Amino acid sequence: MKRPHGVVVASKNADKIVEVGAVLASLDPQVFVIDGHTWPDVEETEDTLPGNALLKARAVVAATGHAAIADDTGLEVDALDGAPGVSTARYAGEDASYDDNVDKMLRELAGVVDRGARFRTALALVTPEGDELVVEGVLEGTIATERHGTGGFGYDPIFAVGDRTLAQLDADEKNRISHRARALRALAEKLTT
Ligand code: IMP
Repeated sequence: MKRPHGVVVASKNADKIVEVGAVLASLDPQVFVIDGHTWPDVEETEDTLPGNALLKARAVVAATGHAAIADDTGLEVDALDGAPGVSTARYAGEDASYDDNVDKMLRELAGVVDRGARFRTALALVTPEGDELVVEGVLEGTIATERHGTGGFGYDPIFAVGDRTLAQLDADEKNRISHRARALRALAEKLTT
């Protein structure tokens, strides 16, 4: 697929839009983020990350007429047999806050020794011409026993890579290693200029 000049980032999560925009701007040639569009909420009704990413990207292309990139991210915890996975946003309930989800994860893993986990991002690019591409990015880590750091969002304060959580990294450091950044670079590699 040919690299689009600009894309709409199909997310209403401001934290995520900033991260995706920073990685797109670091690509060579860079991909511009097209701002200022709105679209109806898209319900994540698929039971896979790639399915939901495609659903969101298609809906935003239909609403805006521009190419769109959408991601769907899941946290897979070994001690929970890969849960919460596709339900990561709703782990502590339908309207769970970041803090609710983190609190529940810390409770569930209290006393658990095997704390291995990974973030998995499925990223979909859909163009108005109907071309579709889906890639993945994975970041391996462990679930900390308590919160550390103030950066990032979501589960970042308890997701550790080595001896630091993602919330202890600055934005550039997170964008060099994150699951979402890896997926974006994998996507860029598949596009022709
Ligand atoms: P979604 O892809 O927006 O549906 O995100 C799924 C869940 O994963 C939400 O609870 C997010 O807060 C969380 N999440 C997504 N990306 C990250 C990240 O980079 N760090 C920490 N949590 C994340």
